[in-house]
Amino acid sequence: MSFRRMLKGASGRSLASKEPEPGDQSTEITVHPETRNPTRVWDTIRYKQKVDVVKPIDPATPKPRDHVRFVCISDTHSKTGAMPEIPEGDVLIHAGDFTKISRRKEVVNFNEFLGTLPHRHKIVIAGNHELTFDQQLMSERNSHVFMSFASAFEGLKKNEWKEIRSLLTNCTYLEDSQTHVMGFKIYGSPWQPVFCDWGFNLPRGQALLDKWNKIPEDTDILITHGPPLGHGDLASNGCRAGCVELLSTVQRRVRPKYHVFGHIHEGYGVTTDGQTTFVNAAICDVHYRPCNPPIVFDLPTPRVPTVEAESSV
Ligand code: 5GP
Ligand code: MN
Ligand code: MN
Repeated sequence: MSFRRMLKGASGRSLASKEPEPGDQSTEITVHPETRNPTRVWDTIRYKQKVDVVKPIDPATPKPRDHVRFVCISDTHSKTGAMPEIPEGDVLIHAGDFTKISRRKEVVNFNEFLGTLPHRHKIVIAGNHELTFDQQLMSERNSHVFMSFASAFEGLKKNEWKEIRSLLTNCTYLEDSQTHVMGFKIYGSPWQPVFCDWGFNLPRGQALLDKWNKIPEDTDILITHGPPLGHGDLASNGCRAGCVELLSTVQRRVRPKYHVFGHIHEGYGVTTDGQTTFVNAAICDVHYRPCNPPIVFDLPTPRVPTVEAESSV
């Protein structure tokens, strides 16, 4: 039973705020009234939230039988040449910010780098640094960040940016979309709360919740660029940068096995709330030094139902 339900008085009326909060049982997600102040929201809900630190597995450990090995990286910012070694595995996940400003050459280089990796499946989403992947930003061309880098994009032929994602031939690129890999349903989304007017920025609240509402409930592994509130989201200025409604969506509606993200470089590491394991896989630290190792996890291979099993219900 949620704490808010326990607060019901004899009349049955709730004595607490009517707005559901992360951790409540209702699956209907509404915008938290203080969504624009995630640090304060976290201070009010943390007493009923579980955040346990998880020690990632050593990549040298052999993969157990009948398991799929996932290798997570994020925020490589065109520095893959200097990053720690990427362990072998079945599925490589990159949670965005693979470039500095997504010049064509950076995207080509990243794609070539992906081509050198042995993983059978590679899944990539964009982050706020992938400006040229954000169709709206590129068509309006009026964000401060776009204008400050405009000269870098002059080399892009007219409308070439519209096809920029087609340069990623060595991976599956997800943008508010799902893919099925080795029996797992994996969904990816690049959006994060507005911060300095970069790519895939949206205001906190309903605009972001509209994106999270697209995540299917049967998602096994969720990839977003930004963290949810409370997990891997503590910025170096002491503020919580995670999205309140993303935490609500993960905890109350989607309940994925894993949620992989990056964006807040200093939040690198793995935590769990007892239901979902949260992986902040940022390779670069807060000074954009590519020093953190990739994070590896194994999941049992889902049993594919046989025809007999399907018909024997
Ligand atoms: P990036 O520019 O690579 O997306 O983010 C780099 C760094 O900017 C993060 O590690 C974090 O220190 C800071 N940052 C990004 N977004 C936010 C935010 O929404 N709030 C705060 N406080 N810091 C942020
Ligand atoms: Mn980054
Ligand atoms: Mn980012």
